Amino acid sequence: MSARRHLTRGLRFRLTAGYALLFALLLVGTAALFRERLAYTLNSEAHDLLEQEWAAMKGYLHIVPTRGHAVEHEGCGPYKPTWEYDKGDPDEDFAVERLRRVYVLADAKGCVMQFSTIYESIGIEQPKEIEAAVKSGQPVWKRRVSPHGIPYLIRAGVVFDDKHRSAFYVAVGRPMDEGEKILKRYTWMYAALIPLSLLCGCLLGWFLTGRALMPVMQVAQTAQRITGSNLSLRIPTRAAGDELDYLILTFNRMIERLENSFRQIRQFSTDVSHELRTPITAIRGQLEVALFTAKSVDQYRDATLNSLQDIERLSQIVRALLLLSQAESGQLALQKTRLDLSSVMRDIVDQFQIPAEGAHVELSADLPPECAAEVDRVQIERMLSNLLSNAIKFTPAGGRVHVVLRSLPEAISIDVEDTGCGIPEEHIPHIFERFYRVPAPETCGNPEPGLGLGLSFVAWIAKAHGGTIRVDSAPGKGTRFTVSLPAAVAEPAPAEPVATEAAVGPHWDE
Ligand code: ADP
Repeated sequence: MSARRHLTRGLRFRLTAGYALLFALLLVGTAALFRERLAYTLNSEAHDLLEQEWAAMKGYLHIVPTRGHAVEHEGCGPYKPTWEYDKGDPDEDFAVERLRRVYVLADAKGCVMQFSTIYESIGIEQPKEIEAAVKSGQPVWKRRVSPHGIPYLIRAGVVFDDKHRSAFYVAVGRPMDEGEKILKRYTWMYAALIPLSLLCGCLLGWFLTGRALMPVMQVAQTAQRITGSNLSLRIPTRAAGDELDYLILTFNRMIERLENSFRQIRQFSTDVSHELRTPITAIRGQLEVALFTAKSVDQYRDATLNSLQDIERLSQIVRALLLLSQAESGQLALQKTRLDLSSVMRDIVDQFQIPAEGAHVELSADLPPECAAEVDRVQIERMLSNLLSNAIKFTPAGGRVHVVLRSLPEAISIDVEDTGCGIPEEHIPHIFERFYRVPAPETCGNPEPGLGLGLSFVAWIAKAHGGTIRVDSAPGKGTRFTVSLPAAVAEPAPAEPVATEAAVGPHWDE
C-alpha cells in the first residue's frame, strides 16, 4: 500500500501521468475536430451531388397537359409526367434510373402523381406539407431514415409544366449510408488508435522521465553519502549544460562552502584551544614553581602577579571571542546615530598621541571640519582604535602614521596609513581571520604579540555598517587600511552625537 502511494507520489509517475493526460486530450481533441471536418465535407458533397441531380431531373422530367387523357394518379389534375431522354444511351438511362430511385411528384395540392417505392418506404409528405412547400417556392432539404435504417438526404422543390401554367412538387433523394459508413469507420479507427497510442506514449514517457531523473537520484545518493567528515565528495557533471548540470554545479558549490566552513570551524577550535592552553600552562607553571620553590613572600607575590597577568590575557581572549561570536551571529545590534565623524576621529587620534609618542611614531590626521555620518559610535571608535593601535604597533620608531577622513558624495572614506613593516602579499587574504597573525619580520622590531582578533572585529564593523575594508601593503614600506562607509542621508536636523557607551571601546590588544 505504502509502496503504491510512494510510486504515485513520485515525480516520475506524476510527470508521466501529466504527459499522458495532455496527450490524451490532444488526441481526442484532434480526432473530434477531424471527425467534424470530415462529416461537414461529406455532407456538403452530398448536397452538391443532389443539387446536380435536381438540375438534371428538371431537364428530363416534362409535365404536359393532357386534356381528356387519364392521369397516372387518380384524382390529380389533367397533367401527364414524362421522362424524356435518349433510351439508347446507357449513361442517360442509368442517370434517369438513379433519379427515379428515390423520387416523388405531386401537384400543387399535394396529390401524388408519381413516386418510387423507396420514397414510399421513407414516407411521402402530407398534402398540406406539399402545398406549403409549393406555395413558398423555396427549395427544401431534409433527412429521412428508411425502415432498414438507411439515411436519405432529400431535396424538394417546385417545377412547372411545359406550358408553365401549374406548379408541381418534386422531391429527389440519395442514400447517405456511404458517408455514414466512412464516418463510422473513421470513428472506430480512432477509438482503437487512441488507447494504443496512449499506451505507447505512457511507456515512452515513463522511460524518458526515468532517464531524465536519473541524475537527480545520483545527486540524492551522493548527498546521502556526504557527512561532516566526508565533505570532499563531489557529483560529476554530465557536460550537458542543462538545468540538471546547473543543479549539480550549485550543489557542488554548496558542499564546497560547507567544507570551507567546517574547515574554518575546525581551525578555529584548534586555534582557541591553542590560545587558551598557552596562558593556562604558564599559570600552572608559575604556581607550581611558587609552591615548590618560593621561599619568601616576594617570590610568592611575583608568581601571583605573573599569573594574574596571564589570567587577564585569558579573560581578554574569552571576552573578545564572545563579543565576536555575538557580532557574527547577529546578536550585537548596531545603535546607529547621526554624528560628526570628524570630531569622533579627532578625539581618538588625540587619545593615541601618548602611545604614539611612547613608540616614537609621528601620528597626524587630515580631517575635514565636519563630516556627518550615521554610525554606531562605540563600534566606530572600536574600529579606529584597532586600526590605530596596529599601525603604531607595527611601525618601527621614527616612522609615521597618518589618518585621513574624506566625505565623498556617495561614501565616507577613512584611511589609516603607516610607514611600518608592511604585510607580505601571501598573508593579506588571511589577516581578517580570527587568530591570524603574520610572523613579524626582523625589521619590524619586536611588536608585542596580540590576540589576532582585532581585524576580524574591524571587518565585521565595516560590513555591519554596509561598508567595505581594503588593505594595500608593501613589505618594508608600509600599510594602508581603507574603510568605506555609506554616506549619511542628507538631513536638515543638526547631527547630535549620542554615545551608547561613554568611553572608547576596549581594544583587544590593550
Ligand atoms: P593582532 O594585532 O592582535 O595581532 P589583528 O587581527 O589586529 O591582530 O591583526 C592581524 C595581523 O595583521 C597582525 O598580527 C599583523 O601581523 C597584521 N597587521 C595588522 N595591522 C598591521 C599593520 N598596520 N602593519 C603591519 N601588519 C599589520
